[in-house]
Amino acid sequence: MTDVFADLVGQDEAVATLRHAAAAAAAVLRAAHPVAVGSGPAEVEGQPGVDPGAGMTHAWIFTGPPGSGRSVAARAFAAALQCAYGTGCGECPGCHTTVTGTHADVRLVVPEGLSIGVGEMRALVLRAASTPSGGRWQIVIIEDADRLTEAAGNALLKAIEEPPPRTVFLLCAPSTHPDDVSVTIRSRCRVVPLRQPPAAAVAEVLVRRDGIAPDVAQWAAAAAQGHVGRARRLARDPEARQRRDAVLAVPRRLTGVGAALDAASALIEAAEAEAEASVAEADAAERAALQTALGAGGTGRGAAGAIRGAAGQLKDLEKRQKSRATRAQRDALDRALVDLAGFYRDALTMALRAPVAPVHTDTAAMAEAGAQKWDAEGALRRLEAVLECRAAIEANVKPRIAVEAMMLTLWKG
Ligand SMILES: [Zn+2]
Repeated sequence: MTDVFADLVGQDEAVATLRHAAAAAAAVLRAAHPVAVGSGPAEVEGQPGVDPGAGMTHAWIFTGPPGSGRSVAARAFAAALQCAYGTGCGECPGCHTTVTGTHADVRLVVPEGLSIGVGEMRALVLRAASTPSGGRWQIVIIEDADRLTEAAGNALLKAIEEPPPRTVFLLCAPSTHPDDVSVTIRSRCRVVPLRQPPAAAVAEVLVRRDGIAPDVAQWAAAAAQGHVGRARRLARDPEARQRRDAVLAVPRRLTGVGAALDAASALIEAAEAEAEASVAEADAAERAALQTALGAGGTGRGAAGAIRGAAGQLKDLEKRQKSRATRAQRDALDRALVDLAGFYRDALTMALRAPVAPVHTDTAAMAEAGAQKWDAEGALRRLEAVLECRAAIEANVKPRIAVEAMMLTLWKG
């Protein structure tokens, strides 16, 4: 009933593809180990007409908007590949260890900084080439494959072009646009497109899996605009709700140039504070771990050499942490901009009298007032200003400059 695909909300087509592939992969293993047939679970033998290999391939890309469940899909598929029954039953040790992140043959790459470097990728590719210790598959999941550096992408490409027989690469990216995934990598992978799940499906999973009250789940699902993780945070975390409230108060506060610039500062500083809180704990833990590893305070022979080495390692760590902090800031700011875009989208659909449910039910009255004042064109100009701000920051424009320009347009129209 609750197998590993249960949390992949509103993605029936993708789930069907992945189930088929997992069954085919299990058939490949059975063909390679005919001795094991009969000793395995009965369910596996019961699957009719699965050609070994058909439907399975060694490299996949999961695409879809943020929050659609790219990494959830990749992990669920990995679990199904490691499942003793080849189905992703959710119960066996293969499923369980994959889902909890402790399976020895499943490696997860989550970039902490702005990009995944070549060193990390080479090491990963090397380890992925080894024989799976569990007898099934070596699986490498790369979250945010769009953050690979060019060199790292090339290292990955080599592995995908000449794959070790039992290695499977699962990449997650927003799209297959060449900006996100190189054309050559794309050409070697099968693509599993995920769509933005409907709010009703997101609300259903919040109620079923997280035990959230139905009315809260519905509000959070709509406010999160199809982003499952964001919906869960809004439903459960009062601080996330407060941050959202502060963002949605922005349109009301824009009464002049000074107010617009103040609002820009407030938005940037809130994103910085949120990011700092989210990385502070990890930063401190890493520094402490490094100091322990380096034997802080040692005075014996060779200590001078050790200190020289330590300085280099500390510098590396600081560089990584800075990069992670920048990423966290951008992510926080982007969440705020998505909320703001939802507000102006509501104003636009109201001005057009479009029969669409508002994103933010709790600011619907304010959006309606905006719709009256600005008309459809004015609402559209403001929505575009928010989207342009997101694009500018993604293209490395300094956040403060982009946000100030946006606020001025939101004020003037
Ligand atoms: Zn299983």
